Amino acid sequence: MRYDRSRRILVTGGAGFLGSHLCQRLLNDGHEVLCVDNFYTGLRSNITPLLGHPRFELKRHDVTFPLYVEVDEIYNLACPASPIHYQADPVQTTKTNVLGAINMLGLAKRTKAKIFQASTSEVYGDPEVHPQTENYWGRVNPIGFRSCYDEGKRCAETLFFDYRRQHDLSIKVARIFNTYGPRMHPNDGRVVSNVIVQALRGENITIYGDGHQTRSFCYVDDLIDGFLNLMSSSDEITGPINLGNPAEFTIKELAEIVVALTGSSSQLEYQPLPPDDPRQRKPDIAKAEQYLGWSPKIGLREGLHDTIAYFKTVI
Ligand code: NAD
Ligand code: UDP
Ligand code: UDP
Repeated sequence: MRYDRSRRILVTGGAGFLGSHLCQRLLNDGHEVLCVDNFYTGLRSNITPLLGHPRFELKRHDVTFPLYVEVDEIYNLACPASPIHYQADPVQTTKTNVLGAINMLGLAKRTKAKIFQASTSEVYGDPEVHPQTENYWGRVNPIGFRSCYDEGKRCAETLFFDYRRQHDLSIKVARIFNTYGPRMHPNDGRVVSNVIVQALRGENITIYGDGHQTRSFCYVDDLIDGFLNLMSSSDEITGPINLGNPAEFTIKELAEIVVALTGSSSQLEYQPLPPDDPRQRKPDIAKAEQYLGWSPKIGLREGLHDTIAYFKTVI
């Protein structure tokens, strides 16, 4: 996907897993990229290859504070995504989601920039509707350990749609389902990185609960295609729109596939299920197919193959 002309694009959370892939793609497409990050979970090494690029600029900044820059487009990705990281400082997680959204929307309002929000399948909570469609309002615990993230992201969606209604902003809200790939942090704590790192080290593979809970895993390159398609879609397409891979696996199946692909001798070790852990998750992507002409192309085994190759180089 190419834009008609070069744009000045702000990526918040640009040193993170998804953000660093997005910055790279936007540079490849000929744009100027301003990467803003406070390095809470992001790594400088994720963007080291971009630092010498003439159209790339890095700014250390926390989005809970105002930011005055001149841009044409904003991708708001700043927020720790792994449960162990977003629960480590839950008040900061809510601030990042809510104050970060207000500041970036204020920036978009002043500069008349189009603004994208990295929302999440967590807005559906532990869902009774399966697969999850965008018109399902979700089942979220407002006072639990996941709430700082889930309710923070829900409030951010509210702000996006109120800025749209009140100030006529051009908004693009993507509900991202579990995504994996190279540049996930080895200590990120999410299931794909944990399982791969444990398998490569020959350690026991930690399965929380009975391993029968499901997730649907999207490879990062597919997801970034979806971001770009959504951002370049016509103004009336605001979302929220699900972006994810509808192929659904139990966590036990995921672990078994990784063990087979790595040829590991690791054993599965069952540990208690964290509170409010959703039992099942699978996106209905009919809207993305219809409005964006988007669907994921890379299957789990193929994506895991490349991700395992990456982790072999970093651990
Ligand atoms: P990540 O933790 O790798 O990246 C998040 C980035 O945001 C990091 O670089 C971090 O340092 C930065 N950040 C955190 N708080 C900040 C703040 N206050 N100010 C500035 N920067 C801050 O996670 P990711 O997987 O790349 O996720 C990116 C976005 O996508 C997040 O908003 C996340 O909620 C969303 N998302 C991701 C997934 C997924 O499966 N990867 C699924 C749903 C939603
Ligand atoms: N803001 C920002 N950069 C800008 C413009 C605004 O960070 O370029 C912040 C500003 O600090 C404010 C928030 O965005 O707190 C919301 O801005 P808005 O104009 O919507 O609200 P107001 O300033 O009227 O409270
Ligand atoms: N999980 C697991 N072992 C791990 C990490 C996670 O069994 O080492 C489980 C977790 O309990 C959840 C699923 O895998 O049911 C996905 O967890 P993740 O943290 O990747 O993302 P979530 O979708 O829960 O936000």
